[in-house]
Amino acid sequence: MTPPSPAIGVLALQGAFEVHARRFAELGADACLVRKPGQLAALDALVIPGGESTTFLKHLDRAGFYGVLNQFVHSKPVFGTCAGCILLAREVTNPPQPSLGALDVSVERNAYGRQNDSTILTAETSLPGGPLEMVFIRAPRINRASGKIEVLAKRGDSPVLVRQGHILASTFHPELSQDPRVHQLFLNIVRSSMP
Ligand code: GLN
Repeated sequence: MTPPSPAIGVLALQGAFEVHARRFAELGADACLVRKPGQLAALDALVIPGGESTTFLKHLDRAGFYGVLNQFVHSKPVFGTCAGCILLAREVTNPPQPSLGALDVSVERNAYGRQNDSTILTAETSLPGGPLEMVFIRAPRINRASGKIEVLAKRGDSPVLVRQGHILASTFHPELSQDPRVHQLFLNIVRSSMP
């Protein structure tokens, strides 16, 4: 018997949500876009995509989403990319702003300066299969990570792909590369969390 396809929601309040949903659908998940807090209850996992974290916070407040999302990220698999990583962090700087505190890191927003708004790097990571392309867009930098954090990839000395139990986060945009390995990793985390 084939295992059931995990239901993975992509938070679609703003930002780069469509490509994530397509990628997970291609990998065999049951992917859907999430616009209302009531949708979370039916999901096995959630993606918080890149975008602008301040705009996310405004939408989350307005839609009455914040509380339900807070419960979700502390109990089910969540994948945050870029702005999503900022929202998941324990601490946000440059400037400080509220966050869900599910990922034990301190992130600095827009940490690479204006002239480095967007950068594509290819580097070895701890994922098997050779170098990984990483697309950074007005990226945050993880300045501190607690001992609970598993670092899967780095840019210089800074972690850029991290895992803490059921939470996966990247400061780059894996959905903008053709390589499916980061999405596949999250799908594996989701599958192993299912009964
Ligand atoms: N600079 C954005 C922020 O601070 C994040 C950028 C992104 O998600 N690509 O929220």
